[in-house]
Amino acid sequence: MDKNKQPRVCVVGSINMDLTVTTQVMPQQGETVLGDDFATYPGGKGANQAVAAARLGAEVHIIGALGEDVFGKTLYDHLKQESVLLDGIKKIADTPTGVASIILSENDNRIIVAPGANVQVTPELVEAKRDIIKSSNIVLLQLEIPIKSVVKTVEIANAYGVPVIVNPAPYQQLPVSVVNGATFLTPNEIEAAAMTKVAAMDLQQKLIVTKGSAGVAFYRNGKEELVPAFTVNAKDTTGAGDTFNGALAVALANGRELADAVLFANGAAALSVTKIGAQAGMPSMTEVEDFLK
Ligand code: ATP
Repeated sequence: MDKNKQPRVCVVGSINMDLTVTTQVMPQQGETVLGDDFATYPGGKGANQAVAAARLGAEVHIIGALGEDVFGKTLYDHLKQESVLLDGIKKIADTPTGVASIILSENDNRIIVAPGANVQVTPELVEAKRDIIKSSNIVLLQLEIPIKSVVKTVEIANAYGVPVIVNPAPYQQLPVSVVNGATFLTPNEIEAAAMTKVAAMDLQQKLIVTKGSAGVAFYRNGKEELVPAFTVNAKDTTGAGDTFNGALAVALANGRELADAVLFANGAAALSVTKIGAQAGMPSMTEVEDFLK
């Protein structure tokens, strides 16, 4: 596509508020302990990837659902602030906004996600927002919404020839139609190991496997190529995968070749781990370009 045109990215996915308590001591069953700090952070893989792509200058739409509660309002305002376009959002009465309840201690963390409104990202909602998918240069999916909505999104994108990245996280068995319809699949190493059981003819060609501080693997002409991670002062790797996916979507929508797009996303993700917080470290286009010079 025209390099001067703003690429259009459509994310179909989850929006959560992360509720994080830090503690020195993890409570045992039935026990109450006094912890340290409490903070709320905007999260959810869908929202994180949308913010990552918007920071990189894309026109980003998110198709998702929020409750009509305080968290819903805060997250709506936050996404707007991040220049994510919100015409794909459905607000749902009498349903809580999705939350992740996170307990963090020095060497342990425990997380419970209550999906709330994210369950209402139904195939019907996706269908109602068909025009957003149709007019996008790329679609980005994760698995924190009902799988039948993932299936529907892939089907619509395929119908209009819009490329689709499926980030299979958190992992569940993917329907064959999703594997076949995806342009790229972006598991991390653990998810990739689970995926080897999926039978699809050209699965390998579609895989882009993120390997944390070891970098990223992808396939070219049937051969695996490993792009090593950049050496950075890593402070918090939460959201590295989300930054990688958002950046990959922008780079591909910008018309970069696969190897170049992977390198770009590898750079964006490296920058993201240098700051604490999933979204806090997500870089701008200028920051990534300067880093890759
Ligand atoms: P998360 O669930 O924490 O978002 P993930 O498991 O989905 O992460 P990873 O494979 O851990 O994803 O990381 C994604 C990408 O981020 C890596 O492929 C790499 O490009 C970059 N990255 C992660 N950790 C580091 C690091 N310590 N140094 C440099 N780059 C990193």
